[in-house]
Amino acid sequence: MTQRMHQGEVVKLDRGFPLVRLDGDESLVRCEHATALVKGERVRAVIGDRVEVAYPEGHDKAIIERIVPRTRAFVRKDPTERAVPQVLAANFDRVIVAQPLGDVNTRRLERELVLAYETGAAVTVVLTKADLAENDEQVEEVRAQVRALTGPDVETLVVSALDPQSVEAVRELVPPGSMAVLVGKSGVGKSSLVNLLVGADVQETAAVREADGKGRHTTVSREMIEVPGGGRVVDMPGVRGLGLWDADAGIEAAFADVEEAATRCRFRDCKHQDEPGCAVRAAVEAGELAPERWESYRTLKQETAAVRERREQARWMQGEKASGSARACKARRARQAVAAKRRPKER
Ligand code: GDP
Ligand code: ZN
Repeated sequence: MTQRMHQGEVVKLDRGFPLVRLDGDESLVRCEHATALVKGERVRAVIGDRVEVAYPEGHDKAIIERIVPRTRAFVRKDPTERAVPQVLAANFDRVIVAQPLGDVNTRRLERELVLAYETGAAVTVVLTKADLAENDEQVEEVRAQVRALTGPDVETLVVSALDPQSVEAVRELVPPGSMAVLVGKSGVGKSSLVNLLVGADVQETAAVREADGKGRHTTVSREMIEVPGGGRVVDMPGVRGLGLWDADAGIEAAFADVEEAATRCRFRDCKHQDEPGCAVRAAVEAGELAPERWESYRTLKQETAAVRERREQARWMQGEKASGSARACKARRARQAVAAKRRPKER
């Protein structure tokens, strides 16, 4: 029996079950994943995914049979697993990184920018709680500090919940038909920003959560929200850890200053440790590159390298299990050792 397939989009995850809005239909359909998806490809639909859905007879939920290949994904390392990626959202056009203007966490912002750039989407920084700034000079100082991290091509907007007009510039960045994901530590004011964009309290802010006695860190379900006169936004609440997954391109983009200095090192494979003619160390010594920034770069590079290493290990182990023969394993390990030595040095 052939079933008719419906196309739709995942707009919410409700206790693990995707809610799908079918094309040309306003109602939401609660779905399960087809066994083949979960067991075979081990993928699960996330917010923003385009999916094909079937309605088998006698089933209370619809079944997601296929996830349309993603144009974009926000991926971090699964915080609970050693070497597994976790996709948080798909098919968005822009990543909005929120930080409180009066208390920008530089190290976290660097990490957020790496993850944002890695997606390939447009990136914007929104500095929140501008009303708490001491004066205009502070605002300009923080803007300059943030620009030093983002480079000149990323727009930084300043908003305040007390000034509804201030979010209009954010609305313009989410035009109809587009989707933006909102990243930032809990408490920076993401829900407040969404509420301002919508013009109504659609997201529970920390104040409401506290009044409920539910506390600050209740996991709020992830949901796509329509912005009047604009596209959609997805707040990503509860994203506390932002472990890197594949992040080399993101690091390259977020640390263009370091990467640029490295092109001037005498040796192409310079590790910037004690090689002669190292332009990166020279830049640090000359005060052109902040030592903390250089330190962040190294930390993040090491983090992705470690994840890649663990992933490769996990892959070999699985290969070993599948092939079974001890001799084949030994031979493969030898080949891998040779390949690892030949791998081009990271730059
Ligand atoms: P979220 O966890 O990122 O969603 O942050 P919330 O939107 O829940 O905001 C955290 C706290 O900051 C709440 O108590 C808000 O009332 C407060 N807050 C949010 N935006 C602003 C703002 O622009 N100015 C001030 N003064 N407080 C704000
Ligand atoms: Zn060097």
